[in-house]
Order: sequence, then C-alpha cells, then structure tokens
Amino acid sequence: MASILIIEDEARIASFVAKGLKAEGHRTTVAADGAEGLDHALSGAFDLVVLDIGLPRLDGFELLDALRAQGSRIPVIVLTARDSVSDTVSALEGGADDYMPKPFRFAELLARVRLRLRQAGEQPGSREDVVETGGVRLDLRTHRATVEGREVELSAREFALAEMFLRNAGQVLSREQLLDQVWGFDFDPGSNVVDVYVGYLRRKFGAGRIETVRGMGYRFTS
Ligand code: CA
Repeated sequence: MASILIIEDEARIASFVAKGLKAEGHRTTVAADGAEGLDHALSGAFDLVVLDIGLPRLDGFELLDALRAQGSRIPVIVLTARDSVSDTVSALEGGADDYMPKPFRFAELLARVRLRLRQAGEQPGSREDVVETGGVRLDLRTHRATVEGREVELSAREFALAEMFLRNAGQVLSREQLLDQVWGFDFDPGSNVVDVYVGYLRRKFGAGRIETVRGMGYRFTS
C-alpha cells in the first residue's frame, strides 16, 4: 500500500483515479489546484504523485519545476491530453517520471503506478505486498492477517477470499464472482461454500465488516 497524491482539478477524473487506487489498497488524497498540490507533494507524506497539467493557481509544469527545485525525488506521473506530445516531452524534461495520455483506461495508469512505486524502492509503509483497509491488514508474502493489530489465523481459502474483499472494499461482490475468483471452476454455482466462508471471515474480522446485500452478494465495508 502506498500514499498517492492526485493533483487534478477535474473532479470526475480525480474521483475515477482515486476510486481505482483505493480498490488496489492505496491511500489517496486529491488536491484540486496546483498550489495546494505542491504543498502536499513537499510534505513528505506521499509515495507518488499523479499530476494533471492544466491546473488553477499553479500549472503542472510550474509545480514540477518547483518540486524538483526543492530537491524532492518523489515519482510523478503526468496526465496529459493525447494530442499534446510537446507538452509531454516538456513534462519529462521538467522532471516527470512518466506520463499518461488522456483519456486512459484505469488499468494503464495502474501499470505505471506499480512500476514507479517498485522503482522507487519498497519503502516501509508503501509495500505492494500488503493490502490494508478498514483495520484489516493482509501480508501477501507471509500470509499473515491482522485485525486492529491483533493476529488472526486464516486458511489459504479464507485468505484468498479476504484479499478479494479488501481489494474491492465498498463494492458489492456477487457469489458468482467470489466463486470464480477464489474457488475457480471446481464448484457448482448452487454451492453455498461462499456463504459458509463469509461466515468464517465474519467471526474472525468482526461481523460488521462484511455486509450482506440482499439478492446481490457481499460488501466489505472499510
Ligand atoms: Ca485540468
């Protein structure tokens, strides 16, 4: 999980990016203008910046210049209009690590975010092999799980189900999705194995963390 700063004045794009990154287990903060964005970027509280170019108060180029002039090495991925090749080249010269032409699919941005975080070195607290939300923390390397800092024992299947819930916190997951993703094709759709395992996780995580959404499935609340 990493702390990612999104500097973007278009609310629709900012929330699209924030939502996707949160689903991946990252913490996100949105700044809607360049001056506020620069303050945040210099605070030392973030692992990566997603930066729009056209911004009020301070545009993306000015922000990058100021950031690098102050010695910050934080990875920056610039969002740029697809037809602005010259903008993009300037951004890279101005100290951006990568750029993302708009419009883009979230998966494309995510691939770049992962790469830049990996290259920046896995600092403590920004490891990609930890998924954490709503007080539940899963270490994907050691398969250890904690709830509010207290260790809980999970079987391999419970762990896989928990990871699916945490990565999609706040979204409804149907029984079919969970069966496909966690059990594969070995179980028939009429099986109640999902409900049984949700029961196990509720006992271990606290019942309130996984809601039943009638007729639809389950939702992990963070
Ligand atoms: Ca803009």
